[in-house]
Amino acid sequence: MKTIGVLTSGGDAPGMNAAIRAVVRTAIYNGVRVLGIEQGYNGLINGNIKEMQLSSVADIIHRGGTKLRTARSEEFKTEEGRKKALNVLEVFGIDGLIVIGGDGSFRGAQKLNELGLPTVGIPGTIDNDLGYTDYTIGFDTAVNTVLDAVSKIRDTSTSHGRANIIEVMGRHCGDIALYSGLAGGAESIIVPEVGYEVDNVCKKLLKGKNRGKLHSIIMIAEGVGNASQLGEEIEEKTGIETRVTILGHIQRGGSPTARDRILASQMGAEAVNLLLAGETCKVVGIKDNKIMSMNTNEALEYERDLDQEMYKLTKILSI
Ligand code: ADP
Repeated sequence: MKTIGVLTSGGDAPGMNAAIRAVVRTAIYNGVRVLGIEQGYNGLINGNIKEMQLSSVADIIHRGGTKLRTARSEEFKTEEGRKKALNVLEVFGIDGLIVIGGDGSFRGAQKLNELGLPTVGIPGTIDNDLGYTDYTIGFDTAVNTVLDAVSKIRDTSTSHGRANIIEVMGRHCGDIALYSGLAGGAESIIVPEVGYEVDNVCKKLLKGKNRGKLHSIIMIAEGVGNASQLGEEIEEKTGIETRVTILGHIQRGGSPTARDRILASQMGAEAVNLLLAGETCKVVGIKDNKIMSMNTNEALEYERDLDQEMYKLTKILSI
């Protein structure tokens, strides 16, 4: 393998830069040329590609976002688009591709692999919604961003004796809500994997109020329902003044945590090593604290399960 291409695709995540840095430096360390493809599969189709040097990735390990920028490409979903992409890969002499992104981006890599290109995926998404790996790059930073917001909301919530609903991201995965809810001491955690009954949420709020609790934090994942509507229902049923905060894209930005930087560095290096070892159609992950890899087709079949033990613990601790 002489030339590796690297791109970031789909939703961005803090730590993607650290992963790009690791890919570029590991490739150069091994005497392999590395080309950066800008704006995901769109940039690949349009030949938006430049050679990366050691200095191209200097001063980015601590930065959120992605230096290579990202995009969603409808054209790449068509056979015609992918043929164009393959042609560009040939023109630039790219003989292996590293894709940093979520499940959609991995499906795109899978399609390129079917056309004969060796590919390795690195999980970069704050949602932690990939079942084959314990963690994805960006998740830990997002949880810490939410936690910071929870602490601030808790202050004002206590002052006013209000209930606060905090809606977090995660698409259909409740991990951001679960982890930040446990760490932030939330009274109720509502995740798509379990669902909720408004009456139960209200009962818990009233129970807390009756034993003198000054505030209540309700974490709700975006995939479960409408946070504003839940707020209205709670106010109506309990008479407790309720505020709703939808954290939104703040969760996607910021300097990555140490944990995300380390994970990204390890995964980036492993992705290059896999390509150099002649592996193809792989995705990198972390399982039981060990960096691992798996066939992409197999990895995409894993459903993400909620950590039931952790969920149970949140119930016990918020009694
Ligand atoms: P994420 O990677 O964060 O899940 P998306 O689902 O938006 O984000 O996917 C990113 C890009 O990957 C899409 O815009 C598209 O170009 C490509 N992609 C997604 N699914 C497929 C697919 N089934 N076939 C080919 N390309 C795909």
